[in-house]
Amino acid sequence: MTLLATETELARKRRARRMAKALTEAHPDAHCELDHGNALELAVATILSAQSTDKGVNLVTPKLFARYPTAADYAAADRAELEEMIRSTGFYRNKTDSLIKLGQALVERYGGEVPGRMTDLVTLPGIGRKTANVILGNAFGVPGLTVDTHFQRLVHRWQWTEETDPVKIESAVGGLIERRDWTMASHRIIFHGRRVCHARKPACGACPVARWCPSYGVGETDPDKAAKLLKFELAPGADNPYAAWAPHAAGAPSGVAGTQTAGVPAP
Ligand code: SF4
Repeated sequence: MTLLATETELARKRRARRMAKALTEAHPDAHCELDHGNALELAVATILSAQSTDKGVNLVTPKLFARYPTAADYAAADRAELEEMIRSTGFYRNKTDSLIKLGQALVERYGGEVPGRMTDLVTLPGIGRKTANVILGNAFGVPGLTVDTHFQRLVHRWQWTEETDPVKIESAVGGLIERRDWTMASHRIIFHGRRVCHARKPACGACPVARWCPSYGVGETDPDKAAKLLKFELAPGADNPYAAWAPHAAGAPSGVAGTQTAGVPAP
């Protein structure tokens, strides 16, 4: 019998909030990893992030944003030039199409500005509900849950919900987490998915939410071996965000897994 079948709704809500609190402490540096300075830049970066890494997108956006600072610039873009600028993010023909059409729609319908409402955002080319939530949460301060693949995998492992449709997942998880925390909770869950609870090799033995996780044991449980599975990078000179629970990771070279042996709650 699964935990989902036996746990009361209230107990699940309490468990989810404890996990969310632990994730707040575990990932103090969680943030939107797509570099942007305004809503248009975030919309563009989010469109480019489909089937690409945020890092890969961040490599192309500085030049792109300088070349196309307004929606009108995308609307009038030379297709070949734009394709070339975003080629490295993959699917560049489709993405070019979306960016030009997005620019046109914004100019024609919203005076060149990105609207701050879900109902408007989802009518725009290249913008679905997930992208709209990213834009609302990070550019407009409107709480939103970003249900990406990490988010889906983790909330299933945690048995917060068994829904598989992203909109239903959003609604189920929205009932567990306080609305005002939705945007940051999304970042923390995604960080946790990228750094600790990986798809293939979850680091259960080095996981700060292990004590509340019904899937503890799907990954490595030996603390030392699990610690080697943690994946995160430290910018030069940056404090180790995991000093509290991954003290031995301090100074881990950029892109190399840190190590962790202490501070893990007993599962
Ligand atoms: S205990 Fe394992 S499965 Fe559960 S969240 Fe942590 S890494 Fe993921």
